Amino acid sequence: MAKVPGTYKSNAPTPPRTVMLQHSIVGRDELTNFEFDPDKPFRCCLLCGDVYQTDADRAIMPNSPPLVIYNAPQRRQMWAELHNRQKHTDAEHRNLKLSGLMCTPEAAEKLAPYGIVPVSDIVLSDEHEHAAKQAPRAPVNDAIHDVRKE
Ligand SMILES: [Zn+2]
Repeated sequence: MAKVPGTYKSNAPTPPRTVMLQHSIVGRDELTNFEFDPDKPFRCCLLCGDVYQTDADRAIMPNSPPLVIYNAPQRRQMWAELHNRQKHTDAEHRNLKLSGLMCTPEAAEKLAPYGIVPVSDIVLSDEHEHAAKQAPRAPVNDAIHDVRKE
């Protein structure tokens, strides 16, 4: 029997669908020495909730030179790889993946003040709902700027 293009069905389980809300930080402009800009590119750890954003990320504009646009994502990727290697085990990553959730409750609590809200996790998990409710309304610390100072 000939297969008709577009009619293939996979027996693989459907990956969980996740919804992440990213919004501005209420009162951000009143925070002293707080530089994180939720409207600019950043990376965050879905295991512990650390957030990384450099000056280069905040400087990116639509008309930025190609070198700036090219280097900033590489630095974020380098931070993520180093962070994952130094701070987390393979088992932590595997357990999060197996949970079907986007992040841990600890990360949900830490990310919410940055305007990063894992909506689907909050709906699916009581722990995440509780974490989001008890999260501070403003970030306690600024985003990590420098890989070496983490
Ligand atoms: Zn982490």
